[in-house]
Amino acid sequence: GVASADEFDFFYLVHQWPGSFCDTQAGCCFPDTGKPAAEFGIHGLWPNYAKCRPAVANDDDGVVEMVVDGGAAVERHHRRRQKCWPEYCNDGNKLRPWEIKDLVAELDANWPTLSCKSGKSFEFWSYEWKKHGTCSGMGQHGYFAAALELKKRHDLAAVLAGAGIVPSDDESYSLGSIRDAIAAATGAVPNLECNRDAAGETQLFQVYQCVDRSGKKLVDCQLPMQGKCRDKVKLPTF
Ligand code: 5GP
Ligand code: 5GP
Repeated sequence: GVASADEFDFFYLVHQWPGSFCDTQAGCCFPDTGKPAAEFGIHGLWPNYAKCRPAVANDDDGVVEMVVDGGAAVERHHRRRQKCWPEYCNDGNKLRPWEIKDLVAELDANWPTLSCKSGKSFEFWSYEWKKHGTCSGMGQHGYFAAALELKKRHDLAAVLAGAGIVPSDDESYSLGSIRDAIAAATGAVPNLECNRDAAGETQLFQVYQCVDRSGKKLVDCQLPMQGKCRDKVKLPTF
């Protein structure tokens, strides 16, 4: 159906570290444009609510089971279905190649697919547009241009390298030092998400930058994230 697009509070610009996408049990594939650079790539630009809200019956969009009131004893009784972001706001609005024709070279370089589904990054962009972009209040060109503009502002791999956090298959880094380095360089506190490599080691997987509703200004991330990280994490080579 067509959901209202103007009721979110901020965006997550989600960056994925290709080394951490690829060294998992599931592995990865390179897109038909070749092996991406050893830089963070865009995963998506996701509209989000500042506060989760009770989900309406039959509405599964952005619904997560979450503990409203903490504490193990009450947890069972306080689980509610919550809607934490809008998604799929207009399934009829499909991404049209010609709308983003002038951005394709930049998108290939900065928003490459690593999934083994098709090797076509356009399919990844289409999926992200349909799930998240249709809720952004932006047009197709504006949505992809906004994500590229934001990404251009900071080279996160270079920011980390400047703080001595360089890709390595042996070294571990403190999560706080990663967060601090990005906050200092960008002026905004990010959220961090980890995954596990094939050996089960915890590694930095995604960096979430928070962006105001205009899609232009970075702001501190204020929603806590259960990012599955540990105090010490790896940043694997790619
Ligand atoms: P996962 O369960 O792997 O964390 O997320 C699966 C998908 O749900 C993501 O690719 C994204 O489309 C959506 N998603 C997860 N967390 C968030 C969030 O905090 N905000 C938004 N807007 N979407 C999310
Ligand atoms: P989300 O996590 O945004 O809901 O889902 C991402 C979807 O895009 C998945 O279905 C995944 O197969 C597909 N996809 C294609 N390329 C990529 C990629 O490079 N990274 C991620 N995380 N998902 C990708």
